[in-house]
Amino acid sequence: MDLAVAIPRKRTRISTIKSVQSQDSQPSSPMDHPKKVVVCGGGVIGVCTAYFLAKKGASVVLIEKSTIACAASGKAGGFLALDWCDGGPMEHLAHASFNLHRSLSQELNGRQSYGYRSLTALSLTITEESKTTVSSSSSATLPSWIDGPAHGPKTIGTHETTAQVHPQMFTRTLIEKAVEKYGVEVVIGKLERVVVEGGRVESVILEGGGVVDTDAVVLALGPWSSKLELLSSRFRVSGLKAHSIVLEPKEGNAITPHALFLSYRASNRRTPLDPEVYPRPTGMQCMCQSIILVTEKNI
Ligand SMILES: Cc1cc2nc3c(=O)[nH]c(=O)nc-3n(C[C@H](O)[C@H](O)[C@H](O)COP(=O)(O)OP(=O)(O)OC[C@H]3O[C@@H](n4cnc5c(N)ncnc54)[C@H](O)[C@@H]3O)c2cc1C
Repeated sequence: MDLAVAIPRKRTRISTIKSVQSQDSQPSSPMDHPKKVVVCGGGVIGVCTAYFLAKKGASVVLIEKSTIACAASGKAGGFLALDWCDGGPMEHLAHASFNLHRSLSQELNGRQSYGYRSLTALSLTITEESKTTVSSSSSATLPSWIDGPAHGPKTIGTHETTAQVHPQMFTRTLIEKAVEKYGVEVVIGKLERVVVEGGRVESVILEGGGVVDTDAVVLALGPWSSKLELLSSRFRVSGLKAHSIVLEPKEGNAITPHALFLSYRASNRRTPLDPEVYPRPTGMQCMCQSIILVTEKNI
């Protein structure tokens, strides 16, 4: 996938931003004169922001220092839950996001393009005992592909309330559509500085001296946000490290769409580990606070 349109050179003013109106966009004042927006960061947040701003009629340049979805957005579980934030400040956002994923998937053929599907989510405890036991208080039966010592499986998400995407394929599909349909331009370059004059954003400066003029800037740099003084002087941003492992099962078809939220009690540890397992149509991935496993074919 080569979406990049410009690699800035020293002291180059990058004048790629132009007015783009697509058939789908319905510009209305003040979008009659499309805003120029520079979105920094090609993870899922930057890409989605670029996609929807451009769809609404803005002229968007997305700046990514490496490749689209190269960081967490390409390695995540891609798990989506409708109501797991209910009762908290994220409730409305989580509902809107879950429903938007459903409608986007219909619009972009998400099932084929990026592995969107609904699934069942189970929580269960695993131990080092050798026999599989399902306690009488269990509210769910185990999928046939779990053959280890498991206890008390409970259904914590249904096909109505939990779903998944392949996060790298999702992010890359969205940027491809944003480029093709809405004229978003992708620049591979490292944001170094945002120039603000009189309280207004003027431009962004890239490593090597490239300049992109803009009316507005969106900073979506993930855990790197703290490296930008403009942000770190106002907010405390920190990253949380997690790992993922991708496995390809010998019999992929035998793996049913069940996400597993495990509590693993090892005899030599006081506190349990919480690995998560996300089977995908393409394979399977698994992860936890420190380990993620997912199984899938090479992508
Ligand atoms: C192992 C793991 C599993 C996860 N599982 C889930 C899950 O199942 N469901 C869920 O909802 N969330 C999950 N998450 C969280 C989710 O992945 C993140 O919240 C999300 O990907 C963050 O996206 P982002 O765009 O903010 O950041 P990132 O994906 O980190 O993207 C930031 C981008 O900015 C670029 N960048 C940085 N500095 C610069 C610069 N100076 N100039 C230009 N570009 C720059 C980087 O190269 C990168 O591409 C998981 C995270 C991890 C690590």
